Amino acid sequence: MPELPEVETVCRGIAPHLAGARILRFETRRPDLRAPLPERLAERVAGRRVLAVRRRAKYILADLEATDAAEAETLVVHLGMSGRLVLRQPDGSAPGRHEHIAFATDRGTEFRFSDPRRFGMVDLLATARLGEDPRFAALGPEPLGDDFSAATLAAAIAGSRTSIKAALLDQTRVAGIGNIYACEALYLAGISPRRRAGSLGPERLARLVAAVKDVLTRAIAAGGSSARDYVQSSGEAGWFQHAWAVYDRAGQPCPGCDCGGTVRRIVQAGRSSFYCARRQR
Ligand SMILES: [Zn+2]
Repeated sequence: MPELPEVETVCRGIAPHLAGARILRFETRRPDLRAPLPERLAERVAGRRVLAVRRRAKYILADLEATDAAEAETLVVHLGMSGRLVLRQPDGSAPGRHEHIAFATDRGTEFRFSDPRRFGMVDLLATARLGEDPRFAALGPEPLGDDFSAATLAAAIAGSRTSIKAALLDQTRVAGIGNIYACEALYLAGISPRRRAGSLGPERLARLVAAVKDVLTRAIAAGGSSARDYVQSSGEAGWFQHAWAVYDRAGQPCPGCDCGGTVRRIVQAGRSSFYCARRQR
C-alpha cells in the first residue's frame, strides 16, 4: 500500500508534467471507485488548467483554475491499496480493464489512474473549502513540516493512554504516517511501540520526531530515483523495495546495533508491529 513517501514521489514525478498544463479529454470508465465519482466529473474537469500539484497526508491534490462556470476546485486523488497514477505517452491504446480514469493534457501526455482493488478515491472539491471537508478538517500536521515538532507532538498526545504506535497512526495527531514508517521510526528512536504515548518525556519525543522525519526523508530520497517508474509507459512498476530495518522482519537479528535482540512481531489495534524488545524501551 502506498504510504506518504510513495505518494510524495508520485506528486514530484507528475508535477512537472501536470502543473501548468491544461486537461483536455477526461474520461471516466466506471461510476465509482470506493465511493461514487463526483457527478459529471469528466465535463467539470475537461478544459481546465492545473495550477499546482501538491500532497496533503496521503492525498494527491491537483488545483484547477476557476472558470466562468466554476470556482477554483481541487481534484483529490487517494491511491487506496492498489491505486496508481501513471503518466504515459499516448499511443492510441485503449485503457486496460483496471484503468478507470484517463485524461490527456495540452502537453501531449496522458495520465491513467488504475486501481484493481478499487479502494482508491477521486473527488472534486472547492479549493477554498478543502480544509472544511471531513477528510481534511481533522488531519494533524504534516510530519515533514515545521508544525510537527517535539512540542506539538507532546501537546497532541498529552495524557494519552494509548500506545505510542497507535498514536503515530492516528491521523489527527500527525498526518500520513502509516504502519511501516511508524515501526521504522520507533525502531530508530529506540522506543517500544507498546510504550504509553502520554508517558514519553521531551527528550524521547524529540528523538522520535527526528526519527520520523529521517525515515520519511530517506524513503522519499530513495523513491526519487524511482520517479521515472511513474512516467514510463507500461505502468507496471511496483512500489519501492525499501530495505526495512524491522518491518516484516520478524525473527531476524536486530540489524542496527549489537544488542543481541531479535525482531518480534506483535499485533496492536489490529496492525502488526515489528520491534526489538532489547533496543526499544
Ligand atoms: Zn539492537
